Amino acid sequence: MSSEVIAREVKRRRTFAIISHPDAGKSTMTEALALHARMISEAGAVHGKGGRRSTVSDWMEMEKARGISVSSTALQFSYSPGDADAADAPNVINLVDTPGHSDFSEDTYRVLTAVDAAVMLIDAAKGLEPQTLKLFQVCRHRGIPVITVVNKWDRPGRTPLELIDEISERIGLIPTPLYVPVGIAGDYRGLLDRRTGDYIHFERTAGGAKIAPEELLTADQAAEREGDAWVAAREESELLAELGQDHDQEMFLAGQTSPMIFTSAMLNFGVRQLLDALVEFAPPPRGRESIDGVERAVTDPFSAVVFKVQAGMDTSHRDRLAYMRIVSGEFERGMVVTHAQTGKPFATKYAQAVFGRDRSTVDTAFPGDVVGLVNAMALAPGDTLYIDPRIQYPPIPSFAPEHFSSLRVTTADKYKQFRKAVDQMDAEGVVQVLRNDVRGDASPVLAAVGPMQFEVVTARIKAEFNVDTIIEPLGYSLARRTDEQSAPELNRQRGVEVFTRSDGAILALFSDKWRLQYIEKEHPDLLLEPLVAAA
Ligand code: GDP
Repeated sequence: MSSEVIAREVKRRRTFAIISHPDAGKSTMTEALALHARMISEAGAVHGKGGRRSTVSDWMEMEKARGISVSSTALQFSYSPGDADAADAPNVINLVDTPGHSDFSEDTYRVLTAVDAAVMLIDAAKGLEPQTLKLFQVCRHRGIPVITVVNKWDRPGRTPLELIDEISERIGLIPTPLYVPVGIAGDYRGLLDRRTGDYIHFERTAGGAKIAPEELLTADQAAEREGDAWVAAREESELLAELGQDHDQEMFLAGQTSPMIFTSAMLNFGVRQLLDALVEFAPPPRGRESIDGVERAVTDPFSAVVFKVQAGMDTSHRDRLAYMRIVSGEFERGMVVTHAQTGKPFATKYAQAVFGRDRSTVDTAFPGDVVGLVNAMALAPGDTLYIDPRIQYPPIPSFAPEHFSSLRVTTADKYKQFRKAVDQMDAEGVVQVLRNDVRGDASPVLAAVGPMQFEVVTARIKAEFNVDTIIEPLGYSLARRTDEQSAPELNRQRGVEVFTRSDGAILALFSDKWRLQYIEKEHPDLLLEPLVAAA
């Protein structure tokens, strides 16, 4: 495959994730996006050596039960801005899911290492909520540009200016609305296009089941049709222009500003505008730097990074489904790639794209695309796969855990198996494993981003290693990075305990933030670094 072909494929691709708090409308928006674009595939599965088809179908059963269209790790759409029928080289859009709700885990953050842009979806009535804030901090840390979507504009909520103020004041991100809604929250009539000055009027469809028809009106026609609502939108737009809150591509890519769009995912209002903004402003996939600082361009030979590994629920087999994001080159079904961490070959014999109930063969994939690998026993999040020349990308940082529990084996003679099981969970990145001399090896402390991970760990240790364990929550709620010098003093403090993580990092756990603040004040010389990510 020539590098021109790869360059062309890369240019038309956009890979993004939606970051939001539960209930803001991520699933509804995902469906609305699928309605506006043509769905190509869901992240397929590629078998490793000795792969069995049944693994995929087991997985499928689970996904079907949970609602196939929104639970997949990645969905791929094709979309042409402006005219959905334009056939020549539509854009290819990859939407990578950020697991949330009860399955909020380190994976939720890791997904953000696989995307080039994020859509921050907020509820018009609620504004910024905790989970959105956490995910936003990861985007900021990784330099991922963010498009802001204010959803549920068909329901009563705050005013545009209130929402803009909240975002700029709380997180220092300056929203630059591309459109201003005509009609207050709860009375969503259409959008004033700030760049053309025109009015896009939306029509409701029964139950919001179809793409909302749009009518394009001039400013004069809009003034006549919408009266005061139009005047108010014009004034808001002018005020924003005076404040300098117009889109600026460089500032957007630098994470300083955020194009803003008002939507109703339920009525399909503003969804096309969101897709257009993604195509117009979100960056296409780029090359990456290796761990030794060597740049791999998107048109170089194949390489990919594993960003998520799921254990199959089939307890009689230790199945793993690993998802990789392609960084460079073309992926072809049947290719034998090398696993950088072990140097071993990994066969990708059966490539499958999964769409609804039908499975079709995936033949090729390009940078920005996500491919699932079945029976990927050896793969862990952060691992690199490549075709020569060799390359290894930097590991995915671990994220600040907020839940801490001690794990104990209940049968003494299973200790060796227990140790193996804990190491396996650690290597797979299911939880972070912390140890110290006082607790010893028999009761390590597990640290996680979401509490569901503890259940996953005990269930998997039972199913895969036949070891019974007890998990006991500890009274800690936050961690800070510290060092050898600070450790003894910290250990003397009440409500604090120091551990070593398996990657060598020294972490101090605190009962609560007041305890931490008190210690920081009393002992300003101690090293206590926040742990958003270990980059
Ligand atoms: P998620 O938890 O972020 O995936 O949110 P869902 O997509 O499941 O939506 C949560 C609830 O909000 C559901 O009852 C949706 O029907 C509703 N919802 C989502 N988007 C909109 C919207 O634009 N307008 C209104 N009125 N309701 C919405």
